[in-house]
Amino acid sequence: MSVFPPRKTNVSASPVSRRSLLTRVAAFTGLWSVSGVEKSGAKQPASGGFSFAFLTDIHIDRHREAPRGVRECISAVNALAPSVEFVLTGGDLIMDALAVDAGSIREQWHLFDEEWKNLRVKSYHTIGNHDIGGWAKDAKVAASEPEYGKELFARRYGNGGTYQSFDHLGWHFIVLDSVAYDETTGGYQGWIDDAQLEWLKADLLRVGKTTPVIVSTHIPFFSVWGQYTADPRKGESRGGVVGNAHLVRKVLSDYNVKLVLCGHGHVSERIELSHHNRTTYIQGGAVSGMWWKGPVHGNPEGFGLVSCHADGNFTYEYQSYNRTRA
Ligand SMILES: [Zn+2]
Repeated sequence: MSVFPPRKTNVSASPVSRRSLLTRVAAFTGLWSVSGVEKSGAKQPASGGFSFAFLTDIHIDRHREAPRGVRECISAVNALAPSVEFVLTGGDLIMDALAVDAGSIREQWHLFDEEWKNLRVKSYHTIGNHDIGGWAKDAKVAASEPEYGKELFARRYGNGGTYQSFDHLGWHFIVLDSVAYDETTGGYQGWIDDAQLEWLKADLLRVGKTTPVIVSTHIPFFSVWGQYTADPRKGESRGGVVGNAHLVRKVLSDYNVKLVLCGHGHVSERIELSHHNRTTYIQGGAVSGMWWKGPVHGNPEGFGLVSCHADGNFTYEYQSYNRTRA
């Protein structure tokens, strides 16, 4: 496997068929890296660093007053003081593209765009399983349709790919694609493919060992939620966590990775182990709460506010946006 050189230009996506999807996705996603947005004029937190908001599991569609909820969340983000410098999403931007037809997929992305245009800062998007068209046994979109697979996300929300990295005021951000096709089920699984792992190694090599790094992945690397709520001996499903996260973690552990953010489970979870540079793993709740049906086990609809301090440390706070109840 060749190591991809870091590039500062986007690689435009080309149509991807179902058959060639796994390899093609690697081809058009593994080749680029964008330099950061060095905004000026944004207010800085007292620490001398900057803040960003982590919005995950937004799941917009036209039901359950989801558009209004997203509007309220974006208003809350816009009103933050000091202002955040950007928004990083954690995936599942729309309700579901896996098992609906092309028209529904287009409608959901249209609704997302209509609300997202009100956000006053730049955003970077992590791909979630529900952002992928037709990866389900009961798929209603054909592999030949443009709404199939990851291409629509890559072209419109991923700057041409499904994973990327960028720099911001001394910090490095890596946005991973944690969703892979599962040949055994005809659905998806949590997995970082080989091409992406090679890209990750090259990206970190360029960044070096001292720069503080934050990683975003939709599907968690690790989670104790199933153990906590169901059975301490319960294992996670193939789609519940990233199956090769232990290998990814070994790559990350050689670097100054402060934080791995994830979504997918809609819960707020923080895992800290005093090993390997003390990387913290945070699952960031959900903008949609329980898919717009209310709080998740008492945890309200909300988003994460991450402050990156000048000394290389961070603080994280989950914030409710006080969604209006119908
Ligand atoms: Zn998900």
